[in-house]
Amino acid sequence: MSEFIPAAKPIVGDEERAAVDAVLASGMLAQGAEVATFEQEFSEVLLDGRAVVAVNSGTAGQHLGLLASGVGPGDEVIVPSFTFAATANSVALTGATPVFADIEPNHFCLDPADVAAKVTERTVGIMPVHLYGHPANMTAFEELAAQRGLALYEDAAQAHGASLGGRRVGTFGRFAMFSLYPTKNMTSGEGGMVSTDDAGVERMLRLLRNQGMEKQYENEVVGFNARMTNIHAAIGRVQLTKVLGWTETRRRNAAFLDANLEGVVTPPVAEGAEHVYHQYTIRVPEDRDGFATALREQYQIGSGVYYPIPNHRLPSFGLDLDLPETERAAREVLSLPVHPSLSEADLERIVAAVNELAKAGA
Ligand SMILES: *Cc1c(COP(=O)(O)O)cnc(C)c1O
Repeated sequence: MSEFIPAAKPIVGDEERAAVDAVLASGMLAQGAEVATFEQEFSEVLLDGRAVVAVNSGTAGQHLGLLASGVGPGDEVIVPSFTFAATANSVALTGATPVFADIEPNHFCLDPADVAAKVTERTVGIMPVHLYGHPANMTAFEELAAQRGLALYEDAAQAHGASLGGRRVGTFGRFAMFSLYPTKNMTSGEGGMVSTDDAGVERMLRLLRNQGMEKQYENEVVGFNARMTNIHAAIGRVQLTKVLGWTETRRRNAAFLDANLEGVVTPPVAEGAEHVYHQYTIRVPEDRDGFATALREQYQIGSGVYYPIPNHRLPSFGLDLDLPETERAAREVLSLPVHPSLSEADLERIVAAVNELAKAGA
């Protein structure tokens, strides 16, 4: 029996352990100098120097980013329904209403035409998701936002280092959120980063993550405790030195799958887009779940369905909407292993298995 190939595998080693040990030995465990250095380095490596604020999760970053941008009750923010629930949750948690729009059929990101159709007088912003590590169509969204006087926010949770037209994701929106959860392209254990080029938003983010305080015990606004710890920052700083190399490996793995898979729809990449392959997602139009079960049971290969239930139909939102590409994607998508720990033999096994199953199903 072959060894199981997991769908995702965080890479954490001796350097991360040593960095955590150094923080523990220092006695400075909570948010401090290590976090400030991590913010600066993250900005230099991934965001061309744009300001970055570290928080304790991607979701907290997205929630606080919206609050810092002035989003609240009575407002509408347009989001995809085909994403992780945190996207719409963060809007709902501000008291604003998430308005769900459909996705483009090719790369699964928010569809600018459907977004334009869903703008109302209450709409204040659009929050595209760079899903699976593929940049959303920010060129179209910038144009639409300018025309209709709307703000752009980015959910870049899955897209560290992705770019469009040579411009890094995270540099388009009023703010952008990156997640540092273990299965993302780099991790700090739990954590999030928010980038912004708006000094007012940056200051409010720093206040909101720390009980509304800049100076100890002089609380200016009502805030949260969303601080990152120095322990998590130490892990993140090591990972940051590796993320671009891991991304190159992900891209090489994806190119191998593109070149060798047969009988399935491989993920297309938009003109000018640099995909960072957080996921390598194919479409299996017939019996996707049976295909995934066979991969696991007959071939010992893990895979993932991101996401099986469109957000608007989750019990937490419970909306009956007509989003045909969202529904089709939820039925058909299957993410194959593409992570940087795969060996050449693993990749060959994945190709052989998928091609056999696709042929048998055809
Ligand atoms: C992971 C993720 C989030 C939330 O990030 P956390 O760090 O887990 O809170 C939000 N949006 C998308 C698209 C994600 O994949």
